[in-house]
Amino acid sequence: MLRHYGAKEIHFRVSSPPTTFPCFYGIDTPSRKELIASSHTVDEINKHMTSDTLQYLSIDGIKRALGDGDYTYCDACFTGDYPSRFPENMELEQMELFAKR
Ligand code: SF4
Repeated sequence: MLRHYGAKEIHFRVSSPPTTFPCFYGIDTPSRKELIASSHTVDEINKHMTSDTLQYLSIDGIKRALGDGDYTYCDACFTGDYPSRFPENMELEQMELFAKR
């Protein structure tokens, strides 16, 4: 659509790392198979979006942006490093997990 309205180039920047894992803590992200970044490279996603370039903020970049405070942050949807043992089966949809409780 941007090209249709005259954009000569499209350089897409995302203010987070690629989302590669679902969130089970409140954000309604689906299973891994529905997250494009879990199975495609940044170059592949860029081609899919037909943008000229695509870049994401890195995990290090997001930590630098948050500063050096004495905090810990969840980054599970970017790293798969969940701060709890939940979920047991990454293939389950979120609602299936809640239904089992
Ligand atoms: S950082 Fe953690 S709580 Fe926030 S959306 Fe990602 S997985 Fe969910």
